[in-house]
Amino acid sequence: MATVLDSIKEANTEFLKVMRSQGGLPQIDKQPSKHVAIISCMDTRLLYILEPALGLMRGSAVMIKIAGSRITESFDSAIGSLLVAVYELGVTEIIVITHEDCGMAHTTASSLCEKMKQAGVAQQDIDAIKPQLEGWTLPESDATVALNDIVERLKQNPYLPKTLTIHGCTMNPNNGKIHFLENK
Ligand SMILES: [Zn+2]
Repeated sequence: MATVLDSIKEANTEFLKVMRSQGGLPQIDKQPSKHVAIISCMDTRLLYILEPALGLMRGSAVMIKIAGSRITESFDSAIGSLLVAVYELGVTEIIVITHEDCGMAHTTASSLCEKMKQAGVAQQDIDAIKPQLEGWTLPESDATVALNDIVERLKQNPYLPKTLTIHGCTMNPNNGKIHFLENK
């Protein structure tokens, strides 16, 4: 039976064949041409629609995907990615995108901890991350409220320059329509 890995390998072979027949991918700079970083959710429904819905092409933007677009710490790997984007890649603008019907609106620290326990993760290891997990998963069913919180946290982040422009918008994962926060 063909596995997911088999289908990915097959797709890659086909992709390379098609690209070669078209003269190969254009060689472009790694600096985002629009000087923008996008933070969006990892939701599968945004795959293939997020970039075209925003008019972004290969090379346009730095893309950072996080469950629920959640950033709750003053430094974590998401902030680290933004530091690289801003200080190394010339990003001057950040757009945070949350979306309606986000899985993170229904995910709680206790449900994750329970499932980790059932999967055999040691209780002491679960206890070690529980406080951070509680802050990060804080369920918020309203995409706009969740978004406001993330945008404000980024604006207050001590490691990002005050010259950055930070916007927030929500996306409908079923049709790609975006809606910007008022005055953001
Ligand atoms: Zn989501």
